[in-house]
Amino acid sequence: MEQYDILIIGAGPAGMTAAIYGQRAGYRTLILEEAVLGGQIANTPEVENYPAVGKISGVELGMNLYNQVIEQGAQIEFDGVVSAQLEGTEKRLTTQSGKVYAGRAVIIANGAKRRKLGIPGEETYAGRGVSYCATCDGGFFKGKPTVVIGGGNTALEDALYLANLCTQVHLIHRRDAFRGSKVLVDAVLAKENILIHYDTVPLEVLSDDGQKVSGLRVRNVKDDRQSQLEAAGIFVAIGLAPDNQLFAGQIALDPAGYIVAGEDCKTNLDGVFAAGDTRTKSVRQIVTAAGDGAVAAAEAGNYLMRQ
Ligand code: NAP
Repeated sequence: MEQYDILIIGAGPAGMTAAIYGQRAGYRTLILEEAVLGGQIANTPEVENYPAVGKISGVELGMNLYNQVIEQGAQIEFDGVVSAQLEGTEKRLTTQSGKVYAGRAVIIANGAKRRKLGIPGEETYAGRGVSYCATCDGGFFKGKPTVVIGGGNTALEDALYLANLCTQVHLIHRRDAFRGSKVLVDAVLAKENILIHYDTVPLEVLSDDGQKVSGLRVRNVKDDRQSQLEAAGIFVAIGLAPDNQLFAGQIALDPAGYIVAGEDCKTNLDGVFAAGDTRTKSVRQIVTAAGDGAVAAAEAGNYLMRQ
């Protein structure tokens, strides 16, 4: 069994920042990541609000962070955690490949996942027109009409990204005012090929041939009228959901499933910290995730010094 001082779950901005700080403080640090480097930023076409960096693609920002993690001497394994034993002074994480890692402290920075709509056809056509990542899948719909569902920053960014590729982007929002930031709303309003459908909810993913998406049936919530939008791709951007069932029973979760931890990133268990989108917090941004990573590593260091 491999032994570390700090085990980090997740290689997003929170986890990678925690690794930089943990390793620099002299602690042997390992990140375990189940999917891709960067977490949600890997799906972000352009980041414009990370201080001092200017405009950068999410993938490049993730790579920069990764390089910094490696330069500092921390390690990353692409192996998802399937079970966790977090109580006591020696914590253990078991991964998909069957390896068991022991750590004196654990930082959970596993982020959050895109929420699903739960409408007919969504699951059937997932990967065949229904997508949760515009930057990953947008290219498949070049020159075709698409739909984006949601009214937050992700939906606005997705619509802008797709507008440069697709003939038309239908942006569907269930209310008459966007939740996202003004700069993105203004950019969306200025795009000629983004057609906004306010007060509209999706009802059913449609397919002409039973193989791939051909459209979306929607309903206007004000007048109750239903209509069909032609689309080859449907991009769901209706927010995030935590993925913390693995820790339930050991770690306190809030009613929505996020880990209960304050600004000090401390959970109910000694030596276990939660950083970034995975914890109860009001502002979920890259900069706040990175801030959490630094705090969690510092608190983990304080905890280890007391051991
Ligand atoms: P979000 O801010 O939670 O917005 C989700 C949107 O989906 C809301 O407009 C919501 O409508 C709508 N929605 C939720 N459930 C729905 C349903 N079942 N059917 C139809 N619509 C539904 O989520 P997000 O845009 O993914 O962003 C997540 C976090 O990351 C936010 O804190 C966001 O600010 C941050 N983020 C920041 C940036 C940036 O700063 N550039 C970029 C991306 C994400 P209501 O408005 O009516 O609730």
